[in-house]
Amino acid sequence: MAGERLFMGIDVSTTAVKALLIDGSGAVVGQASAPLTLSTPLPLWAEQHPADWWAGAVTSIRSALTAANVSGDAVAAIGLTGQMHGLVALDAHGQVVRPAILWNDQRTAKQCDEIRQRVGRERLIQITGNDALPGFTAPKILWVAEHEPEVYARMRHILLPKDYLRFRLTGAYAMDKADGSGTILFDLRARDWSPDVLAALDIPAEWLPPTYEGPAITGMVSEMAAGETGLRAGTPVMAGGGDQAAQAVGVGATRSGIAALTLGTSGVVFATTDAPLIEPEGRLHAFCHAVPGRWHLMGVTLSAAGSLQWYRDTLAPSDSFETLVAEAEQAPTGSDGLLFLPYLMGERTPYPDPQARGAWVGLTARHTRAHLTRAVLEGVAFSLKDTFELMRGAGLASLSETRVSGGGARSMLWRRILASVLGVELASAPTTEGAAYGAALLAGVGAGAWPDVDTATQAAQAAQEAIGGGVFLSVQPDPADEAVYTPLYTQYRALYLALKPTFDALAVL
Ligand code: ADP
Repeated sequence: MAGERLFMGIDVSTTAVKALLIDGSGAVVGQASAPLTLSTPLPLWAEQHPADWWAGAVTSIRSALTAANVSGDAVAAIGLTGQMHGLVALDAHGQVVRPAILWNDQRTAKQCDEIRQRVGRERLIQITGNDALPGFTAPKILWVAEHEPEVYARMRHILLPKDYLRFRLTGAYAMDKADGSGTILFDLRARDWSPDVLAALDIPAEWLPPTYEGPAITGMVSEMAAGETGLRAGTPVMAGGGDQAAQAVGVGATRSGIAALTLGTSGVVFATTDAPLIEPEGRLHAFCHAVPGRWHLMGVTLSAAGSLQWYRDTLAPSDSFETLVAEAEQAPTGSDGLLFLPYLMGERTPYPDPQARGAWVGLTARHTRAHLTRAVLEGVAFSLKDTFELMRGAGLASLSETRVSGGGARSMLWRRILASVLGVELASAPTTEGAAYGAALLAGVGAGAWPDVDTATQAAQAAQEAIGGGVFLSVQPDPADEAVYTPLYTQYRALYLALKPTFDALAVL
């Protein structure tokens, strides 16, 4: 394939490093991944060693080139993406000083309180767009300072997971703005580090790398990295974006008016905004987008399709999801007044409450298993609507379309419920390739294959439609169903507040 101009996206997720190659039309021509393991040395801890990411990247880059039957010379540019928020700490010589502390590590509740106290909670939300959560990077830095002072004393550079790959590929210390904003050391409006937050937390500004917009060039593949990976020395490496932002680029949620909804184990609502919108209570995440000059709001239902998974495993282990959902179709819209709260793992949005619990409310002798199942599907939809409502309250313009992906989206009934509960057209995501695909598109934009990210995502969608025969499922809200769901949602919203004292009491018992 001489003369080929391909773009590579590399995604360092929690479970694998994935490398994916696309051509100039946006079609995937090769991909490969290498698995990663997670280390939990103590309860609440989650760590990985950056050296394992690099080893996984070398393997998956080589395998992706082989899968596409090309040499590294065919790759015109590389974009990076990966798990957000993880703390990678390096010394003055670029050596890793301790294993990376990951996004799902929960050891820093005390440091979050300290950040709120030192910066001021309202001020923190106003500057960074976010409240302090244990998942974010800043509390992890404070934890190291407090618990491992000898490690902290050696720290000179702070990176996020994918930026460690960038450092190994190019020797450059650099980060994209989407991932940078997930550290909560970032001024959301200025799209750069916040001197005020850094000063309040005593974190030296020189430890943080320069940040770049998603398609910008951050460095070139070094001779040494070329030797290891099979890439060509001098290949430009673009900034890319954190996994949520890159995934949104991949599904075309790059413009205000198009939201992306991932109905996986957890449910993620991602909405692009033209301005830095902030939910004043910090109940939504507000980050920079990987699209230059745009931002996004994000909310998370912890047990979305995970609620259906729990329900199946616990109450109907011998039935398939398809069987259960077909049965649920027999129950009427609104499940004859049966409501389900999906807080099986506590909740994140709109109630950041680890003690919240699940419930069916309104059971009568008339209700059958079909009602129970349908109520689960509807309750998850109501929870996702809560996030959309918070976004509207924060100033999100009306949506023309929501693009849905994830395992739950396989169910047509669940899509129809969502469209009517949310009151918005629900379309299929044009690709399920995920964040690596979005990173490859960003690389293509940076290399001039497309003039901007919107054009790239439109071209990519056309390429995907050509492969899929142009059939993309779109579901419109049903006015009759909407009329049932509107009053039911009012009742659903009242339930958390009514049950909160019980949840708290049960947690103590
Ligand atoms: P993850 O977020 O863990 O990657 P997935 O996106 O693969 O998860 O989603 C898995 C979930 O999708 C399952 O737990 C199940 O709840 C749901 N699911 C899978 N198939 C179906 C189906 N046919 N109908 C409804 N839900 C389904």
